Amino acid sequence: MKYKKKDSLWNALENNFYLLKLSFEACPSRVIGEFFYIGYRYGSSLFYLIIFMGLIFKFIEEDTDFNTVLFFLIIAGLFWGTGGLYRAIYERTVSPVGNQKLYENLHLRMYEKATDVELECYENPQFYNQYTKAVSQIKGRAFLVVHVLPELICSILCTFFSSVKIVMIDRYAILLGIIPLFSTYFFGKKINQAKYKLYQENIPKEREKEYIKRTIYQKEYAKEIRLTNVFTMMMKHFKEATESVIYNTKKFGLKIGLLNFIQGSTNELITGMGVIVYSTVRLLFLKNIKISDYMVLVSAIGYLSWCLTRAAKLLSKVQDTSLYIQNVKDFLEYKPKISESQKGRIPEARNINLYFKDVSFTYFGQTQPVLKHINMKIEKGEKIALVGHNGAGKSTLVKLLMRLYDVTEGEILLNNYNIKDYNVQAYRKLFGTVFQDYKVLSLTVAENVLMDSVNEEDRPRIEQALRDSGVYDKVMTLSKGMDTMLTREFDEEGAELSGGEFQKIAIARVFAKGSSVAILDEPSSALDPIAEYKMYESMLRACKDKSVIFISHRLSSAVLADRIYMLENGEIVEAGSHSQLMNKNGKYAQMFRFQAENYV
Ligand code: ADP
Ligand code: MG
Repeated sequence: MKYKKKDSLWNALENNFYLLKLSFEACPSRVIGEFFYIGYRYGSSLFYLIIFMGLIFKFIEEDTDFNTVLFFLIIAGLFWGTGGLYRAIYERTVSPVGNQKLYENLHLRMYEKATDVELECYENPQFYNQYTKAVSQIKGRAFLVVHVLPELICSILCTFFSSVKIVMIDRYAILLGIIPLFSTYFFGKKINQAKYKLYQENIPKEREKEYIKRTIYQKEYAKEIRLTNVFTMMMKHFKEATESVIYNTKKFGLKIGLLNFIQGSTNELITGMGVIVYSTVRLLFLKNIKISDYMVLVSAIGYLSWCLTRAAKLLSKVQDTSLYIQNVKDFLEYKPKISESQKGRIPEARNINLYFKDVSFTYFGQTQPVLKHINMKIEKGEKIALVGHNGAGKSTLVKLLMRLYDVTEGEILLNNYNIKDYNVQAYRKLFGTVFQDYKVLSLTVAENVLMDSVNEEDRPRIEQALRDSGVYDKVMTLSKGMDTMLTREFDEEGAELSGGEFQKIAIARVFAKGSSVAILDEPSSALDPIAEYKMYESMLRACKDKSVIFISHRLSSAVLADRIYMLENGEIVEAGSHSQLMNKNGKYAQMFRFQAENYV
């Protein structure tokens, strides 16, 4: 079973140190600071219980001179004073400031990874679950690890020192301090298993709840929620999910609580009472121990047992945490199939020839291919139209070209090299793409066009791009021109535009990018056929020297293309120029005539 393997103590320690290392890289001062902080806490207890108490009674027994006692007291006072000051400063500044840096850097690391993995990962529920778990857990777990590992080390060191001291006085007495360790470890493991099961059983329900909450308050769903019955249905799912979480919490909560109780009482009975009875018998009845040794023995065994149980609790926390860290680790160490960090050929930005050579593709988890044996050439500067009904596979073709997915069979060549041989980042730069489901972000118009921070020298380019996509005049009517915020999410004066206007802003991205190939995947669906035709016409003018691939299920614009590929059920059924296809009088001609009639 998977649980068993991850359960081993060695593996758990390895995982915890892995996260400690990540935390150290994210904020070294926080990790080092915590070591000193905990070191002082343990050190001062050890000093007080085992050295200070023993010496004070020894001073009394041996009638030590006043100056020596005073000197000792001053040293002890200085130790506690400086330690206390460090503690106060650390708790109020170093630690909270460090936490911010720690979390920010760790989250950045996760997000960088998340943007690096291929899109397919998002469609794999197992991977997506792991990713959401990893992101939601990393903050809490990093805090635990940063605290737990230094404490574990300190408690083990203090266990060692107090054991030595005890053995020097009475080597049998040490048993009283050690026994509780076993009960703590045994019950601790059971408690962790129950907690993890609870967490596992709740996570799909929690995700469902999160999804429903998000959908209800997000604007893009507001219309559907008002106009249909979907809200009632979603609320029903929400209630069911909540009930299931409550049921699990009750079921496991009682078990966890009882186990905690048994663990605590066993330990108190053995050490708390046991030591006092044993040492008092030696002091009062057997009379074979000095009073200073008696004091040290009682407090050292108490301390030893405390340190040991603490170490065991920490160890079980280490194991508990390890299960979660494994998620983080698997996620961060996942080697993306298409990675931006992989090296590869740098493509030449001019003279781009693309060739789909017998390409087939099946989506993750599906059995039927959505693209079958596609053969298609796109030569330098060519204007290509991909047409076909919804679901024919047009967008998928673009996603393959952009390397959001890799082909299942066949290959795509760029200037005779497989596109997999190129450096992905450099390769993707060749294309300016607007997808069908493009997103406009809560940023200014200019930033939305450039998709980057805007400098003074970028403005003419953005202006031209807005003109080419036909939305410049509209943007100029906004309060701050191209510096107006889009959407009202963060700015009350933000602009809400119509669907068609948002589309034109998204289209302007392609013009502003100045890439070698422009790809437009039906970004024009909110435009009427005539506006679409005009938009494509001006686009083709603006992209004179570029290759252009535009996708439409409306054929009025396809007329503008040098070559048209018609897709049906994932296959190219016809290819040629508009007049060739009309002469052929096949499917394209039929569809064209049908649509033309409807527009008239
Ligand atoms: P088009 O752009 O021509 O309308 P798509 O390329 O978007 O068609 O889709 C082609 C087929 O692939 C459709 O049947 C669609 O349901 C399916 N499909 C699209 N995206 C995915 C996905 N991420 N996972 C599984 N199937 C998908
Ligand atoms: Mg599509």
